[in-house]
Amino acid sequence: MDKNRIPFNRPTVVGTEAAYLADAVHTRHLSGDGPYTKKVRALLQEVLGLQAALLTTSCTHALELAAILLNTQPGDEVIIPAFTFVSTANSFALRGAKPVFIDVRPDTLNLDETQLERLITPRTRAIVPVHYAGIAAEMDTVMDIAGRHELVVLEDAAHGLFGKYKDRWLGTIGALSAQSFHETKNFTCGEGGALLINDANYVERAEIIREKGTNRSRFFRGEVDRYTWVDLGSSYLPSDLLAAFLYAQLEAREMVQDKRRQLWEAYASQLSSWAAANDVALPVVPAHCTPSYHLFFMILPTSEARERFIAFLKSRGIHSVFHYLPLHLSDMGQHFGGRAGDCPVTESVCDRLARLPFFTDITPAERDAVIEAVLDFKV
Ligand SMILES: *Cc1c(COP(=O)(O)O)cnc(C)c1O
Repeated sequence: MDKNRIPFNRPTVVGTEAAYLADAVHTRHLSGDGPYTKKVRALLQEVLGLQAALLTTSCTHALELAAILLNTQPGDEVIIPAFTFVSTANSFALRGAKPVFIDVRPDTLNLDETQLERLITPRTRAIVPVHYAGIAAEMDTVMDIAGRHELVVLEDAAHGLFGKYKDRWLGTIGALSAQSFHETKNFTCGEGGALLINDANYVERAEIIREKGTNRSRFFRGEVDRYTWVDLGSSYLPSDLLAAFLYAQLEAREMVQDKRRQLWEAYASQLSSWAAANDVALPVVPAHCTPSYHLFFMILPTSEARERFIAFLKSRGIHSVFHYLPLHLSDMGQHFGGRAGDCPVTESVCDRLARLPFFTDITPAERDAVIEAVLDFKV
């Protein structure tokens, strides 16, 4: 038997990508900011109600762009969950800033907003909430504390696109947010991302940083008669070929999100009694949040049970995986002062979390096989 009959992820493909790619080839605009990049930008701006949506080559690059945009300096501190992907911290560390790790809530695995004030110092510049699995961090509290301390909120919304917090789209609450279109995310062009801008004051400089530190975007709009080096910057533009691929997916967003919601609801409803009987925690969605249905996790009672669970699913040809290691205990995290015991919830959860196969095109048979295998597992 093929050991991974049911993979953990199969990238989303909606069917119209090849036609749009062919069109982009035909029009011969292959570099960044061509017709398809403009379409993606307009779609995201209109649907989400943004000041600007700047496509980037990855979410990592959107975060790096944001760190430059915020004038991050050596010695600055940025508050980041200990339970996240490395790029959330690395983008600021690259500018010489120190990531200050905050523990997560045991229910949503998002930053524990009750610990924020304790970690703020005169050097703190920004708070970077992550909406884990596409379930919102407690943004009202985060925004209130940030406002009182004059800190910028940059949402790492890599999981969050089209999820909501109190009727507001994730990625539209902080001044800035970073989006990922990596093939593991709900919408993809292989590798890609976006910087979403909600505060109009950031738009012009973000365009400059993204265009190698030049005012080329203004030049193309006819606002200046030549373009030149005006600021720090790098090349964060994806090819228009990638934008064409992505545009096809974003046009099909309701179909994609609907399929993912149905999978989520099937897992949540059909596994709930099993989870309760086996002391397993399933994702908690606060009443005022709508998930983006990015991934489905479960927290087993012990790390030993987690290992047995993953091995058991593997024996059924199902690929289940764990997730982040505690960032504050990584080599780099320790270099920045992270120590065991700093973030006990993160440390405990990382050892016990497993994710089920979760992707847009899962078949009913695959979904049912996953559910049946989980129900057959005894913790
Ligand atoms: C995937 C991910 C990133 C990085 O995205 P890339 O597009 O691969 O750079 C950053 N943060 C979080 C929380 C992610 O899940």
